[in-house]
Amino acid sequence: MPPAPDPSQETLRLPVVETFHSLQGEGLHAGRSALFIRLGGCSVGCSWCDTKHSWPAERHPQRPLDELAAEVEAANSAGAAFVVVTGGEPLHHDLGPLCRALQPAGLPLHLETSGVDPLSGRFDWITLSPKPHRPPTAELLARCDELKLVVTAAADLAFAAAMARAAASHRPPGTPGPALLLQPVWGNEEALQLCLQHVRSHSTWRLSLQTHKWLAIR
Ligand code: SF4
Repeated sequence: MPPAPDPSQETLRLPVVETFHSLQGEGLHAGRSALFIRLGGCSVGCSWCDTKHSWPAERHPQRPLDELAAEVEAANSAGAAFVVVTGGEPLHHDLGPLCRALQPAGLPLHLETSGVDPLSGRFDWITLSPKPHRPPTAELLARCDELKLVVTAAADLAFAAAMARAAASHRPPGTPGPALLLQPVWGNEEALQLCLQHVRSHSTWRLSLQTHKWLAIR
């Protein structure tokens, strides 16, 4: 009778949509050199999602973590400042083994998540992008370094304010909150104007643009 599969071995591979070395386009680290690891799988279902091809995890190759670690080492030599683990929704997976595999390569690890799952893995920077139809966990609100809200309509501004209050309320008194960013959904002039007006009149918020799309780079 064959031995039962070892669950720890099963996590040594993850579904990977793509990896690429480019510039971070969004958020507080925009404009910096980064290696992106896009994991497959997402059940959050945002209507405006620009990576819908990532949703079915089973459509993407299961790649060994040591192979990804070798890519991070090469990116470090090629000038990358950090690694961005994104998706899909990366926290649908246990990211502990991935972080342990990548850490020896010596680059800071950044995570981009909607925050619907428990946090796993150790990250140097967490970007939380909450969605009104699937609000994030208190844990991610308490731990995120930046809160990046995608704006499609005026109602999203009220949700953004609620998320900023929630992030502050989940931290010890006196602890700084996350950086607060509004990002207009791509190609929507009304959303852009809403963000511009809001940031102009609210000093705690800043604008995040998808600069990689403006520049037509990855
Ligand atoms: S959480 Fe991200 S990947 Fe998932 S549907 Fe929403 S935008 Fe797309």
